[in-house]
Amino acid sequence: MANTIVAIVGRPNVGKSTLFNRIAGERISIVEDTPGVTRDRIYTHAEWLGKNFNLIDTGGIEMSDQPLSTQIREQAEIAIDEADVIILVVDVQNGITDADEKVAQLLYRSNKPVVLAVNKVDNPERRTDIYDFYSLGLGEPYPVSSVHGVGLGDLLDAVIKNFPETAENGTDDSIRFSLIGRPNVGKSSLVNAILGQQRVIVSNIAGTTRDAINTKFVADHREFTMVDTAGIKKKGKLYENTERYALMRSMKAIDDSDVVLVVLNADEGIRELDKHIAGYAHEAGKAVIIVVNKWDLIKNRDHRTMTDFTNLIRNEFQYLSYAPIIFVSAITKQRLIKIPKLIEEVYDHARRRIKSSTLNDVLMDAIAANPTPSTNGKRLRVYYGTQVAVEPPTFVIFVNDPDLMHFSYERYLENQIRQAFDFTGTPIHLIKRRRK
Ligand code: GDP
Ligand code: GDP
Repeated sequence: MANTIVAIVGRPNVGKSTLFNRIAGERISIVEDTPGVTRDRIYTHAEWLGKNFNLIDTGGIEMSDQPLSTQIREQAEIAIDEADVIILVVDVQNGITDADEKVAQLLYRSNKPVVLAVNKVDNPERRTDIYDFYSLGLGEPYPVSSVHGVGLGDLLDAVIKNFPETAENGTDDSIRFSLIGRPNVGKSSLVNAILGQQRVIVSNIAGTTRDAINTKFVADHREFTMVDTAGIKKKGKLYENTERYALMRSMKAIDDSDVVLVVLNADEGIRELDKHIAGYAHEAGKAVIIVVNKWDLIKNRDHRTMTDFTNLIRNEFQYLSYAPIIFVSAITKQRLIKIPKLIEEVYDHARRRIKSSTLNDVLMDAIAANPTPSTNGKRLRVYYGTQVAVEPPTFVIFVNDPDLMHFSYERYLENQIRQAFDFTGTPIHLIKRRRK
C-alpha cells in the first residue's frame, strides 16, 4: 500500500514546478483552491505506463528565514529522506553552477537512485549541450523541455526503471490509521499515549529513514496499524517544523491509511493548514475522525464549551459533516481509551455494503417524499441505484438525464441514504449515470 515516492530537486528557477505540473497533468481540487498557498502543489499522484507513484516538488517546501544555500540543501535532504527515486533538475541555459554541484554530491552520497533532467532543452540544437552534465557524476543526462512537454517519456522511463520491486505493507487486513495535523498539535504525544494504553504486538522500524514506523496493536479483538507520521523527528533538520513539509507528510500518510484522525489544537483554534489537511483527507475519500487535543488547556469548561467548539468545527469544515468529533488530552489521557473503538466504527462504515434491493427501497421512499425536480419542463427520473465500491461507499444512480439532477437533489438523496444507513465517519460518493 505504501506508495512509491519520486522527489524533484534542484536550485530555484531551473523549472522544477513546471516539470512537476507536467508530470502530474491536470488535477483540480478544493484543497489547491485554498487561498494563502504560495505555491500550488507540492505533492500529487502521478502515473506513467500503468505505474502509480506520488510526486513531491521539494522546491515548494520553503524555509523562508534561511539562506538559499541552506534551503537547497534541506530540500535535497527531504528528497533523500522521503523518496525512492530522485529527479535532479538542472538548466541547460545556465550550465553547471556551484549549487548544482553541491546538490549532486549530496545526492550521490545518499546512494538513492537519481535521474538527471537537463531542462529547457527547447530545441534540438541545444541537445549537444547536455553532455557537459555528465561531469555531475549522476550518469546519463536526460534532455527535457518542461514548458513544451518534450523528453518526458524517456525521463519517466528512467525513473520507473529505478522503482523498488516490492510492494510493501498493506497486505494484512488490519485497520490502518494515522494521526495528522499541523506541527505541535500533539500528534507524537497522542501516538505515545494511545500506544501506552494498548497491547502493542509488532513495532517494526524499517531500515530506511523514509519508511514510517508503523505500529500494530490489538484492541477489541481487532488489529490496528498506526501509520506513524508524527514520529521520528530528526534532530537538526530545519524543515521538520515547516508547514509545507507537515502538509506533504500528512498527504503521504493519508494515502496510506483507511482512517484519518485529523488532530486539532483546542488551545489554538482552527488554522488554514488544518483545513488544507482535512480537505485532502476528504478528497482522498478516507474515513475521518476529528480529534480535538489539549482539551485540558481550556479553562472554565462547561457544557457550552464543547458545543461551541463543535459548532466552530462544523462551520469551518462543512464538507466533513460526517466526521465524528472527540475531545481529548494526550496529557491527562481524557477519552483516549475510546479512540480505537471509534476508529473501528468508522472503518466498518467505510466498508459497509448495502444490498441493492434495500438501497432502492430507500431511494423510492425518498423520491415519494420529495418528488424529483423539473428543469425547462423536463423532469428528472431516478430509475434505480446500486453500490459499486467501498472505502468510500460509492453508489451509481441511474437516471434519465444526469444534468437534471442538481446538487441540491443529489444532496437530498445522500442525506436520505445517510439517514437510512449509518455511514458516520465516511464520505459517500454518488455517481449519476444515464440509463442506456
Ligand atoms: P523552479 O523554481 O525550479 O520550480 O522553476 P519554475 O518551474 O518556476 O520555472 C522557472 C522559470 O523557468 C519559469 O519562468 C518557467 O516558465 C521557465 N521554464 C521552466 N521550464 C522551462 C523549459 O523547459 N524551457 C524554458 N525555456 N523555460 C522553462
Ligand atoms: P506534534 O508536533 O503534533 O507531534 O506535537 P507534540 O506531540 O510534539 O506536542 C507538542 C507540544 O504540545 C508538546 O510540548 C506536548 O507536551 C504538548 N502537548 C501535546 N498534547 C497535549 C495535551 O493534550 N495537553 C497539553 N497541555 N499539552 C500537550
